[in-house]
Amino acid sequence: MQEYVLALGANLGDREYYIGQAIEAIRTSCGPIQRQSRLLETEAMGAADRPFLNGALVIQSTLEPESLLTRLLAIEQSLGRTRTLRWGNRTIDLDIILWKDAHGNFPSVKTPTLTIPHPEMHKRLFVLGPVAEVAGDWRHAELQETVAELLKEKQKSG
Ligand code: ADP
Ligand code: MG
Repeated sequence: MQEYVLALGANLGDREYYIGQAIEAIRTSCGPIQRQSRLLETEAMGAADRPFLNGALVIQSTLEPESLLTRLLAIEQSLGRTRTLRWGNRTIDLDIILWKDAHGNFPSVKTPTLTIPHPEMHKRLFVLGPVAEVAGDWRHAELQETVAELLKEKQKSG
């Protein structure tokens, strides 16, 4: 059985609605939800100018990482996301944060369209907080630290 940690973010319209719809679509097109974090209110950043709701999920899935990404991008599209500015406002953002394979390892992926672990995860409290709730003991393949450790360090350094 392989699992993924996904991060969800929304900052336009009815944010709870979009997150709820995204979770339902993930359940039907990607695989069962194993754990779900609380939703965290986060200040706008980058080119975005409205506060976000952020959350994280652990899902079980038979999909390979690239296929999972394709389905997540399709769910974003179906929920009305338009890509204008990088890091801009969006109805929904779905990112793959970590991958645990069937052997319990945490492999890295680096292709032109997909990087796992997500390259910004350790820099963002709004990712680390929700992810630590659902997968605190998962390990970052390159930094060789658990999510709980990364969160503690980020909280110290600000
Ligand atoms: P961001 O999430 O950084 O705000 P986007 O959601 O617009 O940006 O994603 C841009 C591209 O990032 C996607 O089309 C996808 O190919 C790429 N990408 C690379 N690694 C990942 C990942 N781990 N999860 C999701 N998207 C990724
Ligand atoms: Mg994204």
